[in-house]
Amino acid sequence: MEHDILIGMEVHVQLNTKSKLFCSCPTNATEPNTVICPTCLGHPGSKPVLNALALEWATKLALAIGCTIAPSVVFSRKTYFYPDLVKNFQITQYEEPLGSNGQITLDSKQLVRIKRLHVEEDPGALIHESGGTLIDYNRSGIPLCEIVTEPDMHSPAEVREFMKKLLSVVSYLGIFDQDTCVIKADANVSIKERNFQRVELKNITGFKEIERALHYEIQRQKQQEVKRETRGWNAEKGISYSLRDKESEEDYGYIVEPDLPVFEVSHDWVKEIQKKIPELSEQRAARWVRTWKIDQTDARIIAADLDVAVLFETIAKKAEPLLSSRWVRREVLRLLNDQRKELKETAFEAESLSELFNLLSQKKITDRIGQRLIEQLAERKFSPVKYVKEQNLGMVVDEEVLRKECHTAIAQNSKAVEDYKKGEEKSLQFLIGQVMRATKGKASPAVIRELLLKLLG
Ligand SMILES: [Zn+2]
Repeated sequence: MEHDILIGMEVHVQLNTKSKLFCSCPTNATEPNTVICPTCLGHPGSKPVLNALALEWATKLALAIGCTIAPSVVFSRKTYFYPDLVKNFQITQYEEPLGSNGQITLDSKQLVRIKRLHVEEDPGALIHESGGTLIDYNRSGIPLCEIVTEPDMHSPAEVREFMKKLLSVVSYLGIFDQDTCVIKADANVSIKERNFQRVELKNITGFKEIERALHYEIQRQKQQEVKRETRGWNAEKGISYSLRDKESEEDYGYIVEPDLPVFEVSHDWVKEIQKKIPELSEQRAARWVRTWKIDQTDARIIAADLDVAVLFETIAKKAEPLLSSRWVRREVLRLLNDQRKELKETAFEAESLSELFNLLSQKKITDRIGQRLIEQLAERKFSPVKYVKEQNLGMVVDEEVLRKECHTAIAQNSKAVEDYKKGEEKSLQFLIGQVMRATKGKASPAVIRELLLKLLG
């Protein structure tokens, strides 16, 4: 199938190792320029030493997304001048990347082919302030894994899905920490109307920004002449801007890094790493479907976010798994989505949610009260059982009380009663709503419906 929009991604994922890629400097720092040494400052005579854990984690990721692992790992120097690059070259991988020919499958079954995956060091960070630019070399030498895709995505939404899937994999592997690690992306974008002339968008940070930048760039290309170039993204103004004519990889004058040996990758070592790969989100979802018979789509959506998956699994051991999965998918995730929040930015926790779900499955409260409580549980921790008791929110089951409310609703809404008798189903819904309101949402709509039907003959 021919597509109108082609998007390929280059994603840089920071690996959450305790020390940098080629020296023993720690990766966590609060004050600028405090975790630096002769190696990550590129002083003469300093020599890089490879962090074995970074190589192991990158291999783990490569295997998890189906890449073939290179038989040997060779590092190269990518030469260019920029103030954040202390040595005037970056140690990366060029000719043969650690991993190649992998893939990530989108929900539509569409494949996003992974061209290459390699390990490299991060340069320092430029901090632009009024009056000048400051450089923080704490980031110099931080281990990154670069993942390059083929231009297999065709909309910003597909890119978002791809990024989410990649984030899910690195979170499950435990090699990336969303609180402390950075994900940056470059995107190449081209459209049919401009003969697929490629434009590269550089250094976009954050998922929402990536989507926003792509929307903007696609619109821009539809409206303007397009030349082969590299563009930056100004998040504040919401526009992309020309940085330079696109350079090609050959322009960088790569040479093999003479201070690092060639690392032979043995078959046994790869096998050992393969064994360490934990259950990933799709396998976890499949397990839930198998053991708890929960809906496939619900399982997949809940498992995609590791934090939500862990929350759900804890709840499902204390409350009915099927009911819990529905409520987590429909209410908890909806709320996170509406408020554009991550789970950890809310007060949700397994203890109170499982209490709530138990109240629901035992029919002690109505769904409406359940929804109201979920909203409050997002804000603060409390015991739903105690709260329902204190606030008298338990389901009204006294049929006499309900019948009385139904009589009142019928007496006060003669027009709706008439309409219903003429065959308008909507009017019955209206009457149910009146009784629900009178009982403050504490009565079961199904029971009210039955009573009303009886009374209306
Ligand atoms: Zn260092």
